[in-house]
Amino acid sequence: MEGKMNRLVYLGVFIISVLILAGGLLFLCAAVAVQERFPLAIILLIIGVIGAGWSAFAYRKWSSVQPTALAARITDLAAQNDGELAVSQIMSAFDVSASVAQAGIDQLVAKRQCHAESRGTQTFYIFPGLKEQKIVRKCTYCGSTFPVKQALQKCPNCGGNLELVKQ
Ligand SMILES: [Zn+2]
Repeated sequence: MEGKMNRLVYLGVFIISVLILAGGLLFLCAAVAVQERFPLAIILLIIGVIGAGWSAFAYRKWSSVQPTALAARITDLAAQNDGELAVSQIMSAFDVSASVAQAGIDQLVAKRQCHAESRGTQTFYIFPGLKEQKIVRKCTYCGSTFPVKQALQKCPNCGGNLELVKQ
């Protein structure tokens, strides 16, 4: 409900600003003939530009923190953080309040894209799909796997060739 209200306010301010801007342009044209109209034309143009700019900026900012839009940005952030996020990280990354961050994360939890996990006093949100995939050396013959850190050329079990694969 509040969201709809915000959208209407921004749209209303934008429309009014454009009208003021149009009025300013009319006065500017009239100022060619009547010089006294010039200051008023400038004032109207300034008000119009500020109003239109503010409402467009505020609308963009507001829409970017709506739960659905924010959820998409949170997913990107989680991908950069090895599939793990705390609400505080979302708050600082997107400059939003705890309740806004929570609304975004709640959507992802509802869609089962992540789940909450308590660690000590903090709650982390785990995105299993975004966990960094581990690379291992795998034997093409017997299928044994070995850590990448182990400098192996051939499989110690069967002498088969090793290749790097995602686990
Ligand atoms: Zn092998």
